[in-house]
Amino acid sequence: MADSPFPDLNVSDFGFLNDITTRQMCSYCGKSRMYYCYTCFKPLATLQDKMPDVQLPFYVDIIKHPGEICGKSTSVHAAILSPRHVNIHIYPNIPQYLVNNVVAGKEDENQFGGSTVLLYPCKESFPLKEFVATRFNNMQQKKIDVTHGVLQRVVFIDSTWFQAYKILTDHRLQNIPRIELDAYETKFWRYQLDKPSTYLSTIEAIYYCVKEYSACIKQLSHDSGCESHVNTRLFSKELITTSDVSTKTGLTITKSNEDCVGYVNPESNVKPLINLNEPNYDDLLFFFCFFYCKIRKNASESGRILKSYSQQRKKKQ
Ligand SMILES: [Zn+2]
Repeated sequence: MADSPFPDLNVSDFGFLNDITTRQMCSYCGKSRMYYCYTCFKPLATLQDKMPDVQLPFYVDIIKHPGEICGKSTSVHAAILSPRHVNIHIYPNIPQYLVNNVVAGKEDENQFGGSTVLLYPCKESFPLKEFVATRFNNMQQKKIDVTHGVLQRVVFIDSTWFQAYKILTDHRLQNIPRIELDAYETKFWRYQLDKPSTYLSTIEAIYYCVKEYSACIKQLSHDSGCESHVNTRLFSKELITTSDVSTKTGLTITKSNEDCVGYVNPESNVKPLINLNEPNYDDLLFFFCFFYCKIRKNASESGRILKSYSQQRKKKQ
């Protein structure tokens, strides 16, 4: 697709979303919505079966600043496209993470234990690849099964960079190791003008984190010769996770100053998988690509050029 912000990725066909011209009522809260409900974190009932369902290699927790407008946030995309593995917490209602920086014998003993990391580039952050390689090697040495996940849970902050400071300095997040990704250019149409173009939207950050992690595990498994073992375990585990997501309901836990509620997935017993067969993580960008194309089309029809598109073009010249 020529207009796609990520022409090389294998994103499922979102063409059916272009045919939707009227809003429908969310079957959970009754509010009028177009594609999904950004306060219930659910797709509209008529679209539910058409959405991709992305299996992630770790749990994703998103801590959302209450001032972030839900309808404009890309973190909602993750909760809808990967309902089993994504939780959204509205700050200051966040979990008390039990952190185990050193590899222990029992991973993820309770819901928030195990190897939790916070994705945030700062002077204390480790490059993801370095952090994962160290943990992987420690687990191998201690004969801990890596299919349990070298990372169990990655925490993301969804806020402006200014608001993020308050969340970052919260005492409940102080002991969680911080990791950072390689540099990627954002394609977000609402990127913050005064920030570098490598500051990603939340869904882009989740996507690149999943991709980097999965490539890193693949390489480490290959190098250490445990690839076939990881693959065998994968298939037996996959059978457990094919239940129907359409019957799942979210448990609302927090209420912010607008009508946006936090979402915790009740299916947290469905463990994320390390999948060396590369599931289609590209579909995490399903809504991102749809909105990008739609906004760009609307903009060009009215004679405007999308900010991130003109930025891309400038670079090519
Ligand atoms: Zn709703």
